[in-house]
Amino acid sequence: MHKGKTLYKSEKCEVINCTSCGFAHVNPLPKQTDLEDFYEKKFYQNVKTSYFDDYERDHDWWKLNYTELLNTMEELHKASPKQKNKKRMLLDIGSGPGLFLNTADKLGIDAMGIEPSLQAYKYSKKKYKCNVVNSTIEGLKGYNKKFDFIHSSLVLEHILDPLAFVEKSKAMLAPNGLFCIIVPNDFNPVQTIIHSLGKPQWWVSPFEHLNYFNRKSLRRLFEKAGMEVVYENVTFPIDLFLLMNQDYLTDPVVGKACHLMRKDFEFNIEKSKSEKFKKDLYKAFSKLGIGRELIIIARKK
Ligand SMILES: [Zn+2]
Repeated sequence: MHKGKTLYKSEKCEVINCTSCGFAHVNPLPKQTDLEDFYEKKFYQNVKTSYFDDYERDHDWWKLNYTELLNTMEELHKASPKQKNKKRMLLDIGSGPGLFLNTADKLGIDAMGIEPSLQAYKYSKKKYKCNVVNSTIEGLKGYNKKFDFIHSSLVLEHILDPLAFVEKSKAMLAPNGLFCIIVPNDFNPVQTIIHSLGKPQWWVSPFEHLNYFNRKSLRRLFEKAGMEVVYENVTFPIDLFLLMNQDYLTDPVVGKACHLMRKDFEFNIEKSKSEKFKKDLYKAFSKLGIGRELIIIARKK
């Protein structure tokens, strides 16, 4: 039974901080069949028409972030002596346009993706020559190899049963394997302040985003699945721009400018080789509950 405090309410549905699930989600939840139809046929076509072009424009910035994340996973991986000499195996669930897989490949990792959208699947095959399967996680049934790393970015918020998703992924990990999840950090303190100034709760998107996590509820989900959380961080708290009256939500020109500033901020840190400073700064954001997305890495015990 889903119940808890209402965090958002519209005519059609609400978002509740569900006490039985341990995280916030849309109530009532949609049917699985409606969701499948939406992602297979419509997501990249209707919702994200300029998605691939925007993605390529940010190629170097994505590459920088992916490299940092993969290096962090490599550092955290407690490989046994036998595993150390072998190539790492990585699975990217929801591999999208394929640049994460491509970055992993270039770092000497044996990377494979699964992607339910036919458009994104085809794109990643053609553009990056990725090893990718056009499927959801269910389609990998019967696949016996275990992975050292599993990565899933901006997927969990769309899924009907997040705990089942984490458990299924855990079953595909080798001993000591690491699972990295990235999700939007919603109902965060910056958003709450801006909402109190009269802006609507723009981060709520009831059909696309079913689940709304914060640092605590995301950690709880992994612990429920019997995994050990070994790393927590966030991405740049872009919502701070809204507090500076830079309304990137309604004005695409402002949106582009804010995105460019955020990229420059991170490129300049990279240029000065201050990667540790960036990690520490973002960890401080994470402790405050701010940052646009949450990054969590958990280990299979
Ligand atoms: Zn619930």
